[in-house]
Amino acid sequence: MLTSIKDRSVIVTGGSKGIGKGIAQVFAAQGAKVMIAARGEVAGAAAAAELQAAGGTADFCRCDVSDWDSVQHLVDRTVDAFGGLDVMCANAGAFPQTKMIDMDPEEWDDVMATNLKSAFLCVKACIPQFDKAGGGRVVLTSSITGPVTGYPGWSHYGASKSGQLGFLKTACMELSKYNVTINAVMPGNIYTEGLKDLGQDYLNTMAASIPLKRLGDVKDIGNAALFFASDEAGYITGQTMVVDGGQIIPESLEAIEEI
Ligand code: NAP
Repeated sequence: MLTSIKDRSVIVTGGSKGIGKGIAQVFAAQGAKVMIAARGEVAGAAAAAELQAAGGTADFCRCDVSDWDSVQHLVDRTVDAFGGLDVMCANAGAFPQTKMIDMDPEEWDDVMATNLKSAFLCVKACIPQFDKAGGGRVVLTSSITGPVTGYPGWSHYGASKSGQLGFLKTACMELSKYNVTINAVMPGNIYTEGLKDLGQDYLNTMAASIPLKRLGDVKDIGNAALFFASDEAGYITGQTMVVDGGQIIPESLEAIEEI
């Protein structure tokens, strides 16, 4: 049993859908005050309303995580609404699938801004608050794609997710001065709105290539994020946790068929 995180103030970027929504649900169920951040107001407000209807404390702030002013506003709004900030879950991300031969350089820049620059902006914006509070937690949502695996069409995405882990190492050192830990969850294939857009064939093939024979649930990632945010994880920083149902383990298709 982890020490309660009741009443802690938590930001979840990309909390309106998919993995972020799952992270928000897990934290809200533990009594944390959750600020959902995303660009789309309808889905964001609906996600916050769902948490409130379930008895949680939640709010929504419109934010584009690739924009510095917008991220600063998110942190300020959260501190105003909840009286402080304890945890930043920098989760928002995009994964358009385009092979390099077809990719406009602008698409590369957009993916880097949404997935990688955003990690820096989200961390930077929290530092003054964490400094004031005497500590804090950052949890990044990276991926197995990039740091461990490759997939045609995701050169930019994989680079951004590996980049997050490069950022993590130095961020962990700089943040230690403020008693802040930073760690990353590396999801495999998690059933989300974004993944659904890749089509049923993709989902079926992926499920078949996972030893546990199913796609992950968003709460599987939420639980890992909750652990990194807990008091019990206070001596863990600069680390990663793969949550993928064993997907990166099999050496070959035959190995999976042997199960
Ligand atoms: P999703 O279902 O497409 O949801 C993405 C979320 O991010 C939405 O709330 C979206 O809201 C928000 N978002 C996107 N761009 C944003 C921006 N510029 N500013 C603010 N919010 C933004 O995606 P998901 O599958 O849950 O993925 C979430 C994270 O997990 C991503 O970082 C992804 O790389 C990572 N991940 C996912 C999987 C998977 O299997 N699903 C696997 C590994 C890693 P708006 O569009 O309204 O802004």
